[in-house]
Amino acid sequence: FFKKRMTKFIFITGGVVSSLGKGIVTSSLASLLKLSKFNLRIRKLDPYLNIDPGTMNPAQHGEVFVTDDGAETDMDLGHYERFTGIISKKSDNITTGKVYSEVLRKERKGDYLGSTVQVIPHVTDEIKKFIKKDIKNEDFVICEIGGTVGDIESLPFLEALRQLRNELGKEKSLFIHITLIPFISSANEFKTKPTQHSVKELLGLGIQPDLLICRTEKKFSTDSKKKISLFCNLSFDSVLMLENAETIYEVPLKLHNEGLLRKLNTHFSLKNKKTNLDFWNKFYQKFIYLEKQINVAIVGKYTNLSESYKSLNEALFHSGISNNTKVNISWIDSRKINDFNKTKKVLKSFHGILVPGGFGKEGSSGKINAIRFAKVFNIPFLGICFGMQLAIIESLRNLKGYEKSSSTEFGKTNFPVICMMHEWEKGKKIHKQDLDNLGGSMRLGSYESILKKHTLIFKIYNKKKIYERHRHRYEVNYKYLKSIEKSGITLSGMSPNKKLVEIIERTDHPWFVGVQFHPELKSTPFNPHPIFNSFISAVLKFKNQKN
Ligand code: GLN
Repeated sequence: FFKKRMTKFIFITGGVVSSLGKGIVTSSLASLLKLSKFNLRIRKLDPYLNIDPGTMNPAQHGEVFVTDDGAETDMDLGHYERFTGIISKKSDNITTGKVYSEVLRKERKGDYLGSTVQVIPHVTDEIKKFIKKDIKNEDFVICEIGGTVGDIESLPFLEALRQLRNELGKEKSLFIHITLIPFISSANEFKTKPTQHSVKELLGLGIQPDLLICRTEKKFSTDSKKKISLFCNLSFDSVLMLENAETIYEVPLKLHNEGLLRKLNTHFSLKNKKTNLDFWNKFYQKFIYLEKQINVAIVGKYTNLSESYKSLNEALFHSGISNNTKVNISWIDSRKINDFNKTKKVLKSFHGILVPGGFGKEGSSGKINAIRFAKVFNIPFLGICFGMQLAIIESLRNLKGYEKSSSTEFGKTNFPVICMMHEWEKGKKIHKQDLDNLGGSMRLGSYESILKKHTLIFKIYNKKKIYERHRHRYEVNYKYLKSIEKSGITLSGMSPNKKLVEIIERTDHPWFVGVQFHPELKSTPFNPHPIFNSFISAVLKFKNQKN
């Protein structure tokens, strides 16, 4: 007879400060488990009040990651996918906002049968339900809790976890707490006190962490480790050290060396399985010995660009590695290149130009200048989402009679080349758009595109049908398709009903591609995205010709 598979839950909290790389540690642990052939789901519990991060400013909160099933989620889900290849679902990200709206919906429906609705048990029940939802034969569910222990907002989440630990028992649950051990140079000492306090805080909430992962700039001594173990009520070997890494993709290797899986196996009484780390080892080797270099300009509006465009950054890195190339990215603020001469000066030293997704009129003329510059000087160009829309506007503005082409996103126009679908298909909506609620009014998630044969994009994908993720409110106006083609653009990818433009390219240019979707969301170190692979080899070619 056989034992029923038991799902085990791993809860990951963070203490002392934010930005400890909790998401990367969570992803790395997930990667190690996946490489040990376990089945798993990875979830993020976000204590903020927004329903989802869709309406949050990416400059503050980082990128909004979009899943295949159309959820706007926390950017950590992007890391989970990149490290494991496991496709995230809507149900893998929950926020306080979602929990409360569900509780309030039930309250109005009368589901609570007259009882007083309270944080404990009603809110905590809802959180627990989410954690256990949609789980079938997973060996592990890893839940990362956003924020830092001690935040008021995260209290109901931690309380729910405390209860879960009681219900599941130690054999089926594990708490990992990630902290910081700062090095104080004036005293020439590592300081363990903040970690002690943070664990105390957790203990006060009824949670004793089973494992500590201590982030540190450099290795600390066994003495510090002993001290931490003594004050935090943990065995010596339950204190793991995580030194700064050269790349986030080195973290699975570092955690493995620290014995993370061994600890897990002991805790859950599992046999040690073989973990195949060949891929990460090779990836790291390639990373240290990159032979080539290119300079790519990304022209955008947000100031905190590398966080706002996390997936893009990573996608270029992945394809760089597979092209044996270090991709030096410069984030150019489009508001500073409103003048074409200025644009030339700023962009002249780059080997490739990319205009990523974006919103709003502000900064758009600088982006259009960058596109024109790439077009005229035959510099490899990739336009993503907004970048594609602007490439079309740029092209049409050079066609006689279409000089005023614009997007309705910028205000009223007589040439709405880019607009919302209801603006060109009065009454008939191809995809449902909810225009009253800004949150949730976009074309979101995975959609099919059909590629035209004998085009660059067909060569890149080498197939006819592709699926990519979308996140945009505006579309290319169907009525302008003929004029767009007349302006020198090939419509090389369309929606299956042939109405929505998904991919454009220029035949009068060595490498000029625009896509309505976000290819960066599907790139992983294991599967660098073909569009970025091709872009980078075009950039390399351009650089060689230039020299
Ligand atoms: N602002 C554009 C739209 O909503 C593009 C969005 C994007 O680039 N993600 O359609």
